[in-house]
Amino acid sequence: MQSQTHIENPDVVLIGSGIMSATLGAVLKNLDPNLRLQLYEVAESLAPEASNGWHNAGTGHAGLCELSYTPNYGPDGEVDVRKAIQIFQQFEHSLQFWGYAVRSGMIGNPKDFINPVPHLSFVYGQKQVDFLRSRHRQLSRHHFFSEMEYTEDRNRIREWAPLILEGRNNEPVAMTKMPHGSDVNFGALAAKLVEWLGKQEGCGFATLHRVTDLTKSNGRWKVQVRKLNTGDTFTNPAKFVFIGAGGGSLPLLQKSGIAESKGFGGFPIGGQWLISENPELIEQHNAKVYGMSPGAAPTMAVPHLDTRIIDGKKALLFGPYAAWTTKFLHEKGSMFDLPGSIRLDNIASLIKVGLHNIPLVRYLIQQGTQSMETRMGELRNFYPAAKTSDWKLIDAGIRVQAIKKEDGDAGIVHFGTEVITDADRSLSALLGASPGASVSTNIILEIVQKCFADRLQTEEGHQRMKSMIPTYDEDLIKPEMAERQAAVAREAMQALQLVE
Ligand SMILES: Cc1cc2nc3c(=O)[nH]c(=O)nc-3n(C[C@H](O)[C@H](O)[C@H](O)COP(=O)(O)OP(=O)(O)OC[C@H]3O[C@@H](n4cnc5c(N)ncnc54)[C@H](O)[C@@H]3O)c2cc1C
Repeated sequence: MQSQTHIENPDVVLIGSGIMSATLGAVLKNLDPNLRLQLYEVAESLAPEASNGWHNAGTGHAGLCELSYTPNYGPDGEVDVRKAIQIFQQFEHSLQFWGYAVRSGMIGNPKDFINPVPHLSFVYGQKQVDFLRSRHRQLSRHHFFSEMEYTEDRNRIREWAPLILEGRNNEPVAMTKMPHGSDVNFGALAAKLVEWLGKQEGCGFATLHRVTDLTKSNGRWKVQVRKLNTGDTFTNPAKFVFIGAGGGSLPLLQKSGIAESKGFGGFPIGGQWLISENPELIEQHNAKVYGMSPGAAPTMAVPHLDTRIIDGKKALLFGPYAAWTTKFLHEKGSMFDLPGSIRLDNIASLIKVGLHNIPLVRYLIQQGTQSMETRMGELRNFYPAAKTSDWKLIDAGIRVQAIKKEDGDAGIVHFGTEVITDADRSLSALLGASPGASVSTNIILEIVQKCFADRLQTEEGHQRMKSMIPTYDEDLIKPEMAERQAAVAREAMQALQLVE
């Protein structure tokens, strides 16, 4: 797959066709229509790795239901909800940009990639109920979450998500509901943005093209590319390179040799889902229901039972089940990815990760090798009446979490996203995957503000960015911004057909 033109000596090379490169390409071309961009994707199709519809949960993460964003109590004895508020604001940037993409004709039908699905949190046992009550009390005070409902009433929970109570014992339960949640097919969205980009003057994309090396000379990055169908190799020099290669980012960052890449390592975590295509079950569940992380599970392994809408078809998804892997990518990855990423500057961090995270490694190995009945046991904590015959196991994406030296204490696995930019702002790379695709616009905004600041400083550039992301330079968290936030959100949600 490729666009009609291949751009030689472009201003920008984008590596990878996932949601991050696709968003950066689309934002930059709208910001400065004269920019010349070329995108390379190693796989045969667009966005087949972490962004692919079935490789992630498709939750539009806005802090509405994810209890792992608010794990701690503050000094006042109430749940600390600051991170959920921050993620809500970041997700607003995505909603605004996607709304713009539809209104401006970059994307035709929003239903092809985003659909309204309420976001619920569910807990059981008195300790968890107390936690959720406090979380709701704190969140519902903020204008972002004023619509959040809380209940301990089983009849109400049954109205919101009947499967969760089917066959459940009499322990205390509680649930919160935010009506305006979303299910997003990030792979479909990325592919649409890349296809749009490929039709613009001075832009091109090509699949089955692997970027193999990056070297800087005479102020330009020499991007070495191998065409996988012929084996030919060529070099395309660019002013700016974005390494948005997902699991493939770390090896390329290391090859760039930039000082900022030193010390980074990667810790891959594979994943699996149970999915059900039984129409009777699908009919009874219309929500994304998030619970609490069990025991040693990493924060991203919180169980959730989700309505998914992919290619216009509904399904149910439960998981994730983590798994031990040494591959960084599904399609074009190899078992040698992890050992091949070991360098003198990161070996100490990697060894420390192994030693400091023995429970995590043990958890990953145990999760990856468990039987279908053990997996069903986890689902039954959530949906007690689940029948094995309704569910099948599929692979999810691989997250390569960043490991870095921090304050002299090496060996911390970071469950966030790291943007690494070189000193002369000619290269940016993205490591990590949480909260991920949902906040892709916010991450890309950070890169644009850092590396393309000159474009934003002109009146025209500022106006162009305001059309794409109207509140990019405003703080919606402040109480006095409640009306502005509601108005901008309504406009975006109407364009995306998330509300009437
Ligand atoms: C199990 C799981 C569940 C998740 N759930 C959610 C969720 O519910 N909501 C959410 O917002 N986020 C979620 N995420 C995170 C989200 O999927 C990622 O943050 C996001 O998809 C990353 O996008 P990306 O563009 O960086 O990477 P990718 O989509 O992986 O794209 C990178 C692309 O680069 C290509 N590539 C790699 N190396 C090269 C090379 N050398 N040359 C050319 N191309 C190359 C790859 O083939 C790939 O297509 C989840 C992730 C996982 C793994």
